[in-house]
Amino acid sequence: MGQDPDATQRITAAAPATGSRLDAYVDRYATRTHGMTASEVRSLFAVASRPEVVSLAGGMPNISGLPLDIVGSLLSDLVSTRGQTALQYGSGQGDPGLREQICEVMQATGVRGHPDDVTVTVGSQQALDLVTRIFIDPGDVILAEAPSYVGALSTFRSYQADVVHVEMDDDGLVPERLREAITTVTASERRIKFLYTIPSFHNPAGVTLTPERRAEVLQICRDADVLIIEDDPYGLLGFDGAVPRAIRADGDDGVVYLGSFSKTFAPGFRVGWTLAPHAVREKLVLAAESSVLCPPAFSQLAVSQYLSAFDWRGQVKAFRELYRERRDAMLDALDDLMPDGTYWTRPNGGFYVWLTLPDGLDAKAMLPRAVTNRVAYVPGTAFYSDGFGSRSMRLSYCYPTPERIREGVRRLAQVVEQEMELRAAFGASSSSRRPGLDAPAPDQH
Ligand code: PMP
Repeated sequence: MGQDPDATQRITAAAPATGSRLDAYVDRYATRTHGMTASEVRSLFAVASRPEVVSLAGGMPNISGLPLDIVGSLLSDLVSTRGQTALQYGSGQGDPGLREQICEVMQATGVRGHPDDVTVTVGSQQALDLVTRIFIDPGDVILAEAPSYVGALSTFRSYQADVVHVEMDDDGLVPERLREAITTVTASERRIKFLYTIPSFHNPAGVTLTPERRAEVLQICRDADVLIIEDDPYGLLGFDGAVPRAIRADGDDGVVYLGSFSKTFAPGFRVGWTLAPHAVREKLVLAAESSVLCPPAFSQLAVSQYLSAFDWRGQVKAFRELYRERRDAMLDALDDLMPDGTYWTRPNGGFYVWLTLPDGLDAKAMLPRAVTNRVAYVPGTAFYSDGFGSRSMRLSYCYPTPERIREGVRRLAQVVEQEMELRAAFGASSSSRRPGLDAPAPDQH
């Protein structure tokens, strides 16, 4: 069949008419879609992606560190040697060889899993979707850190979960606050289905749960019979080379562990996994089969080939160096340029710094001015399900060069100073904030 040269034009021309009728479907949508709303700052991000804007907003892994020529030849070998399998449907649970390799990868975090208990997923985002789908009825409570990963919160919302945030400080989740949250929710006769936590190099907070607190959190959840969902995509990206011991390493049946190759290899393959207690694993596979039949065989075998034929540990080390250099650039620039009254976390791994503005400033309200000054960030409210976080923002250092990071922080500091001057001139009410990361310790910047 010949190509129709006018097809694109016709589709483009038809688009506005379809767009104007979108509200025609509103009364048919399922209730669970009510929480599926586009981010209020999405339109600004379109502007933020212009080259003159330094974006400290996105969390894209920096795959400029990957040797694409080697990856290319791995992929070409894969098609010529294992094409019949790589281009075919596969098992719903994932490729058995890859599941064994995943168990080796997890050993770095102290986790000793069996390949039978691993389910390969389409990124750990699908793993989040699956665990939420199998555990959550509308109104069930999920405990999550304050702040928490925006992609998890939107999944939780789409299953109509009730997210109860638990305070963090520079050492991660605060055990005492967890205990209190469990007591309060239980007293209100609601059911806590799980604690969702990112203990290592947190997104968005950049902090890491200490070993002592890991043990305490595990014990609290055991005592209260609360399942832990441990999301660990950044665990191998610690800047001092030490890999934090996963909660799952000491947690066995009380913990479902989520991992991903998005940050240690490349997100484009969309390969993640869960390690779950046996019974949970069976439900996860059934849920996965009903949504995608099986994870993509091509991606799985590509990752498998990469792990077996390439020095992936060396590559993870190279990624750590690349991100450490950028973290240093960001912290140095913040130390040098940010006005008093602003404070931020000091990540020892991962991609993110959590910055809190001087009292009275609002990060979301300030964003248009920041974008005009050619710098972008994500306002803190995106990382809360309860409207908090207005004084805070997430800054990512993973993608821009160190020079661009410094320039971005310089532009941001200018905007913060202007906002402070405006507040001083016109007065302002205090912005809402919760204790913990969004409130300064006495000696913090
Ligand atoms: N969990 C966390 C904490 C993340 O930061 C991300 C990606 N930004 C994901 C899960 C999803 O990652 P992926 O689906 O690429 O594995």
